[in-house]
Order: sequence, then C-alpha cells, then structure tokens
Amino acid sequence: MDTAIHPTIASREVTQHILKVFHLRASKKLGQNFLIDAAVVRGIVEAAELQEGERVLEIGPGIGTLTQGLAESGAQVTAVELDKKLPAVLAETLKGYENVRIVQGDILKTDIRELMGDAPFKVAANLPYYITTPILMALLEQRLPIRKIVTMVQKEVAERMIAPPGSKTYGALSVAVQYYTAPEIVLDVPPKSFIPAPEVDSVVIACKVRGEPPVAVRDEKLFFRVVKAAFGQRRKTLSNALKGAGFLKDEVQGALEKAGIEAARRGETLSLEEFAQLADAFTMKS
Ligand code: SAM
Repeated sequence: MDTAIHPTIASREVTQHILKVFHLRASKKLGQNFLIDAAVVRGIVEAAELQEGERVLEIGPGIGTLTQGLAESGAQVTAVELDKKLPAVLAETLKGYENVRIVQGDILKTDIRELMGDAPFKVAANLPYYITTPILMALLEQRLPIRKIVTMVQKEVAERMIAPPGSKTYGALSVAVQYYTAPEIVLDVPPKSFIPAPEVDSVVIACKVRGEPPVAVRDEKLFFRVVKAAFGQRRKTLSNALKGAGFLKDEVQGALEKAGIEAARRGETLSLEEFAQLADAFTMKS
C-alpha cells in the first residue's frame, strides 16, 4: 500500500462528490444503494474477522465504499462488479490500495472457483437486493472453500435465513443457509445509511460456514431436491407437493412411511433432521 491518505468514502459528502465528479447516477436496475455510514462499513469488516493477507471476495463494490474498509484491514480483496462504468471509477477511488483486484462481470456468471482458487476465503458484500437469494444459493451450493459470508441484506431476507421450522418465513433459503452455515444477525441498518435510501430496512448477517453440516445426509443433491419440492407449493400437503414436483406416487408414500412423517404435513413444518430422514428414505430400497 502507498502512503497516500485516503478520505473515507463512507460519508454522504464524499459519496455525493464521487457521484458528481464521475457523472454517475445510482442505477435502480442494478440495485445500487451506496453505503454512507462508516460505522456500518466498520461493522461488516469487524464481523468478517479478517487477518492480514487473508483473501476476501466482495460482490458489487460500487464506488469502493466497503472495498476501502476491507482493504484497510490488510486483506487481499477481489471485488466483482457488474456495472461496466465502475472499474474506471474504482481505479480512482481506490488508487494506492495494492491489495485490491477489481473484476468486471456478473457474479452469477462468474466461475468463483476459478477466480478465487482452492484456498479458503471469505465473502463480504452489500448485496444488490434484486438477486440476493440466487447469489447466496450459488455461494452455498457450489461447496466453495468459503469460511464466512458477511453481507448486507434486506431485513425480511435475513429473517427468512434464520427462520425456525414452522414459522411463516421458513423456506428453502432457511434450510440451505442453516444446513451450510451458522447465521447470526450482527447489525440493524436503517435506510438513511445509504444513498439513495432504500424503501426497506436492512441488516448485516454473518454466516459462519460449518465444517460439517448439522445433519448427515446420504445424497445432498437429493436432499435439496426434496427441500425445494416441499416448499415449491407451500399450500399443498408434503405428499402432494412432492408428487407435484415429479416424485413418483409410490416412492413418496414409501419414503414418508420409512421416515415416519405424516403425508398430510406441510413442508414448512419439517425440521432439518426430518428433511434429511425423508431424503435418505428415498434412497432406501423397500
Ligand atoms: N458495495 C457498495 C456499497 O456498499 O456502497 C455498493 C453496493 S450496491 C447495494 C450493489 C452493487 O452490486 C452495485 O454496485 C451494483 O452495480 C452491483 N451489482 C449488481 N448486480 C451485480 C451482479 N450480478 N454481479 C456483480 N455486481 C452486481
């Protein structure tokens, strides 16, 4: 890193100045809500518990607000930004930070394993809200060597991520997040911490990736097929939802019996253990 003194980007004045100088307008389509709250940037960086030289992937650096906080921690930052206009801006706002690599591209089309290699890394982001769930699912399901994911999400999404079985917000995202990680809400973030201010409340959630899943599953792919089928048609009974998703009638009946789960129950009442038992039951010969 050079000896230049960098103004903190996470403030209303500096952010407005950058937007003006580079003739930028926050794009609604790309989910651009820029952080202007230095305490929130600090909160994300602290929750990520970055060590000097540790690698971190940032999704959507925008004008470099969180990127700067991550870079100041001494971590090696790789930041993937979709907006083609922003790499030139980032080259200026983050000038002198030699531990930052900017990659222009769509995170959903990026081969993250190729980008980050096989060594462990962490993820930190103020995610674009229009694709939060696909991004989280992609990070989790690819079985990448991620240690921790610390991210800003819409409060309502965080509630789904931590929801227990039986609650209204419990769904496929809850099961995936809780199967792969131990999630914890670390910070409430009001709309005024961004420009433009979003219409929703936000939170920072830290998801520590588990060494071992909390339940043993014979076939992970099948487990998630069952989970997605169970939540695919929430108003149907579990038995009908599974059949509706293409599982054969006899197999469904047999698996439910073997797993000791009543066919009339609804998917949203099943715990992780019960989903595991049910998925395993599909693999058993009668
Ligand atoms: N990190 C900045 C901050 O905290 O101020 C910006 C966060 S803003 C909520 C989300 C960022 O993600 C925007 O810069 C947007 O252009 C970018 N983005 C949107 N879709 C993306 C995608 N598919 N892949 C990578 N970045 C994306």
